[in-house]
Amino acid sequence: MKTDLDKKILTFHHKFSDDKACLKLLAELKWEQGFVCRKCGHTNYCKGKTPYSRRCTRCKTEESVTAHTVFHHCKIPMSKAFEIAFLVCNKPDISSYEISKRIEMRHMTCYDFQKKIINCRDSSVNNKLLKKVIDQLNKTIKASLN
Ligand SMILES: [Zn+2]
Repeated sequence: MKTDLDKKILTFHHKFSDDKACLKLLAELKWEQGFVCRKCGHTNYCKGKTPYSRRCTRCKTEESVTAHTVFHHCKIPMSKAFEIAFLVCNKPDISSYEISKRIEMRHMTCYDFQKKIINCRDSSVNNKLLKKVIDQLNKTIKASLN
């Protein structure tokens, strides 16, 4: 028997199995209100060196998509990081062992990132973007399940 979560995960794999799709979504949500350079406040940008990063056209400071998000310095592929976030937020009581089994990555790796996601989720200051990401993932998945 497939559970609701299994079905969602299958759809997740169809839609977000590649890291670029995840980065693209993160970029869209991160700069939903437009780009503002953290260094000089300028709002014009051009493409940066890494995928979906943005570079201030005035002071040339580049900001990656993951900078200042829970996905920064993440050692695992973005699609896996997204999947962990998705699992943790859709099944709050999930164990790190189950995550490890589902995404086929080392237990400690999953444990560490799960902790990071939980801290972020429970922080009233930093949880906004994560919440947006999860909402968007759920919306996309729900739409294709119907
Ligand atoms: Zn700037």
